[in-house]
Amino acid sequence: MSIQTVNPVNNNVIKSFEEMTDSVVDKAVTQAASTFEIWKKTSYKHRSDLLHKLAKLMREKKETLATMITLEMGKLLVQAEGEILLSADILDYYADHGEKFLADKHLHPTHGEALIRYTPIGVLFGVEPWNFPYYQVARFAAPNIMIGNTIMVKHASIVPQCGIMIEELFKEAGFPKGLYTNLLMSGKRASALVSDKRIKGVSLTGSEVAGASLASEAGKYLKKSVLELGGSDAFIILEDADIDKAVDWAVVGRINNNGECCIASKRFIAVDAVADEFLKKFTDKMARLKIGDPMHKDTDVGPLSSEAAANQIAEQVDRAIKGGAKAILGGKRVEGEGSFMQVTVLIDMKPDNPVYYEELFGPVATFYRVKDEQAAIDLANDSPFGLGGSIFTKDIARGKRVADQMDTGMVFINHPTWTQADLPFGGTKGSGYGRELSELGIDEFVNKKLIRVSGLTDPF
Ligand code: NAP
Repeated sequence: MSIQTVNPVNNNVIKSFEEMTDSVVDKAVTQAASTFEIWKKTSYKHRSDLLHKLAKLMREKKETLATMITLEMGKLLVQAEGEILLSADILDYYADHGEKFLADKHLHPTHGEALIRYTPIGVLFGVEPWNFPYYQVARFAAPNIMIGNTIMVKHASIVPQCGIMIEELFKEAGFPKGLYTNLLMSGKRASALVSDKRIKGVSLTGSEVAGASLASEAGKYLKKSVLELGGSDAFIILEDADIDKAVDWAVVGRINNNGECCIASKRFIAVDAVADEFLKKFTDKMARLKIGDPMHKDTDVGPLSSEAAANQIAEQVDRAIKGGAKAILGGKRVEGEGSFMQVTVLIDMKPDNPVYYEELFGPVATFYRVKDEQAAIDLANDSPFGLGGSIFTKDIARGKRVADQMDTGMVFINHPTWTQADLPFGGTKGSGYGRELSELGIDEFVNKKLIRVSGLTDPF
């Protein structure tokens, strides 16, 4: 498989890379394993200082790093800059709080003394997606570096230069060789690496197919895994919602990152009383979005990340329409060069539509009218995914009651699903398992070792 930077604005190949051979990968694992033996003995202060340096470097180089994100996968430049800042915040967050999160936890057993001590487990292997090339790495690497683990990352094949730049940043910040390694290799080879005895845990953010492949290998070799997979977040508009604000957030929730977010609002579910008003205002606003070059400040929606991604979503929309849905806005690829898709709103999606249960990864919204709150909850839960979801209502107690009934890992009231360093992130059902970010994110790849102290008594 070729590893290339292809600019999705015009599909010109910018740079090609050779995949690493098995022997180069093997040497890199050896290095990561031997660095672990040293790294695990370093102090929290040392780890924290280096993470802070890395965060500072990222902020200083924000424009350069963001420009490469935009070039490789089409994110709006302004959002790419936001991603760099968010990633730096995540590094700082774990640098500031890691030691406290990992402090001994004293237990109160019926007899004697006991505590939980948090110890590192070794080399971790992360497989990352292209949609947030820096943020995904930051949320996996930062807590684990504080724990004392070492990190190997196989980044998505369409963002090879971002992957290389991240590794260079670690070196420049002063991390030792083998602490963070970028592996230039295809997804197909990634699962094979899981069997390596020196790899102690694996994490994947991406599709269900890739997740199942990696996690089944992890299961076979008895290794811990964390999966952050797809989503089809519901965005519920109740009759007491502020409709204008809900519309503004609905557009942001669907269009952020050109619609290529696992936590994007994808299914808009409005109760009957406000459905007409919401749909009209939402469609009008979506229709005014300007599609164009993601480097330009006045562009609202850039290209999809690749020609394959644009073809995939256009094919799904086509199939949805053949299956009975109607496009009241857009519905096709944008003609001309580049991997652009029209901003699209689909109505009349029914459970028997072949696309009803699929994730739509691009600027395509589906709209549903339901009779009341309970019907909205039922529809929201009628999904193989369980990542996030939103409820718009002025009655916060009601919003919390609805949130209780949503089968997802995250629910946001009066906001699309979002992310920040101090909020846990993750899903249920087909969206995966485990959590990243916040204190919970430091809990996945760590040995919670029980140390029990007993008085010296006779065994009999
Ligand atoms: P993808 O095809 O699964 O790719 C993700 C990563 O997995 C890439 O590095 C890819 O490598 C690798 N991969 C592919 N096949 C593999 C296999 N059989 N074994 C091991 N690794 C494999 O996903 P995508 O289409 O790029 O990304 C979009 C998906 O990710 C969406 O479903 C989205 O919702 C999900 N996502 C989830 C989250 C979350 O936190 N829940 C965040 C972002 C994205 P190659 O690039 O070399 O193929």
